[in-house]
This record gives sequence, C-alpha cells and structure tokens, in this order.
Amino acid sequence: MKLKKYIMPILLFTVFAAVGLTLWLTKSNVFYLFNFGYIGTAIALGLILFINRYRHARRVTQILVGGYMLIYLGLICRENMQLEGFFYYLFTGVFEAATIHYAVAKIFGPLLFGRGWCGYACWTAAVLDLLPYKTPAHPRKKLGFIRYITFAVSLVFVSALFLCHVGDLERIMFYAFIIGNVLYYGSGVILAFVMKDNRAFCKYLCPVTVFLKPMSYFSLLRVNCDKSLCVNCGKCRRVCPMNVDMTDNSRRRENGTECILCMECTKVCPKNALGHRSGKNKE
Ligand code: SF4
Ligand code: SF4
Ligand code: SF4
Repeated sequence: MKLKKYIMPILLFTVFAAVGLTLWLTKSNVFYLFNFGYIGTAIALGLILFINRYRHARRVTQILVGGYMLIYLGLICRENMQLEGFFYYLFTGVFEAATIHYAVAKIFGPLLFGRGWCGYACWTAAVLDLLPYKTPAHPRKKLGFIRYITFAVSLVFVSALFLCHVGDLERIMFYAFIIGNVLYYGSGVILAFVMKDNRAFCKYLCPVTVFLKPMSYFSLLRVNCDKSLCVNCGKCRRVCPMNVDMTDNSRRRENGTECILCMECTKVCPKNALGHRSGKNKE
C-alpha cells in the first residue's frame, strides 16, 4: 500500500537510472550513470517530499537539479547547456552534454513528464519563482510568437559561427552560456515586474518552449479533473501560474501545453477533484 503511494517517484527514478545505465554502457563513460542517477534521485526526492506535503518540495528539486546544471555542468565543466549549446553540439555531430540534456529533458522526455523540466529543474525559473507575482495579475497576452524569434536568433547565432569558420568555438560557447544566462535572468526579472507575472518569460520569450510545447501536448503525466467531484468553484484556475484550464480534461484544454506540473491547483481544490493521472479522460 505504501509502495503504491510512491509509484511516481519510483517510476521516474527508474527511467532516469535506465537512461544513465544505457548511456554508460553505450558510450563507455560512467559519468552518465552518475549524472542521470543524481537527477533521478533529486526528482524522486522532490516528489516524495511533495507526497508527504512538504511545502517547499518543488524548490528542493529546482535547487538540486537546476543548481547542478548551471554551476557544475555549465560553469565548472564549461558545457553550454542552453539552446545554443544544443545547436552547437548538434552541428558538430557530438551526442553528449547539451544534446543529451535536450533529448531527455526537452524533446522526448516531455512525452512522459510534460513540462516537468519547467516546474522542477530549470535554473532560470528557479529564480523567477522567487519574485512576488506567483499568479499572473492579468489575463494572458497574445505574445507567444516572440519565442519563435528568440529561437531563430539562437539558431542564426550558432549557424553564423560555423559558416564564418570562427575559431576557438569552445571558448565562445562558454562565454555565450554566461551572457545567455545574464540575458535570460535580466529579461525574465524585468518582464515579471512589468507584466506582474513571474512566469512571463516562460510564456512569451523562452525559445526552449518551441520544443517543449508540442511534445508536452502528448504528455502521459498530466493533471486531470474528476468531474463527478468538481463543483466549479474556480479556485484551481485562480492559483495556476500558467493560466491552464485544468478542469477541462481534453488535450485541447486552454494553455494545456503550458502546464509545468507544479501541482498548486491540486493543493487548493476543496473537493480533491484534481490529481496526477496518466492522460485518462474522466469526463
Ligand atoms: S519555459 Fe524556459 S525559462 Fe521557463 S521554465 Fe521552461 S525552460 Fe525554463
Ligand atoms: S497549477 Fe496545475 S494546471 Fe497550473 S501549471 Fe500547476 S499543475 Fe499545471
Ligand atoms: S478547485 Fe476543484 S472543485 Fe473547484 S473548480 Fe477546481 S477542480 Fe473544481
């Protein structure tokens, strides 16, 4: 009975451990086992804390995973873990670091855990979540097209480095990582205050959502509403940082691909009608 309660952390830990094991054996590099074992453990720990109603459970995972990637992989190991790094390694044909990170967390992983990356691991959002506007003060604006512009800028930047045969690319990518993070944090904080919405950067500017949104549409893990319990009080929608209509169980729910699985909606439901379920429509 107790084990059933922890099925999700066990499942996610197993997935990450399996990825680490596979990469270790195929690439003969034990680092992958350590890397994915650590991330799987951090995610499982956060979920276990959440199940046991610890208030800062999500924050624990954000710090453990986001801090590890930004400080250890990004700044100490000098791997560009941002979108530019993904393009860079893709163009050089090297399947490691940012390419693996993107494949697991942002391209194929979302088929299983949606935008869990955005809720539990992103080091940009870990800081933005500390700002005062946890729930948006205004309705969502139609500015999502900006993400395609920032995505294109990132792609053009890396392509230009290759086309112009620029030397010492490793060093340039490291500085690009630092400058990119400064720009993300700066614009994210400004947007949050201007729009009175901590997650405005995620909604309008973040280029990574070009991958995350379409893949998370099919996410196995999602918040579903038990319509037989719901009394339409609207409390859940009022606390959602991403303007999702989680009371609609269809895949086309309003802002459905924006859900970061933060579970704030489930905490406020007076009827316990919301929960993690694997895509089943209970209507
Ligand atoms: S949308 Fe972008 S900035 Fe926001 S949490 Fe996701 S990856 Fe991070
Ligand atoms: S409050 Fe609910 S619907 Fe909104 S992002 Fe969090 S988990 Fe998703
Ligand atoms: S908080 Fe619960 S009862 Fe109220 S609208 Fe949301 S799901 Fe329904």
